[in-house]
Amino acid sequence: MAKKHVIDEDECMTCGAWAGICPEVFEIDEKADTASVIMETSGPEDLIQEAMDNCPVECINWED
Ligand code: SF4
Repeated sequence: MAKKHVIDEDECMTCGAWAGICPEVFEIDEKADTASVIMETSGPEDLIQEAMDNCPVECINWED
């Protein structure tokens, strides 16, 4: 089963660091000014992990 990732939107500073890493999974909701997860349960795990590693506030995590 694919791992699920979550964004802590309270911590996210909407920097968009993952935009070039995994744009098919993450987007910024410009109306709400928060990051969103487009694909909640699937996606290329290696790219999602890279996005996690590049998040400056470490607010993307694998769900338990
Ligand atoms: S890299 Fe982290 S802080 Fe930046 S937009 Fe994505 S989730 Fe938010």
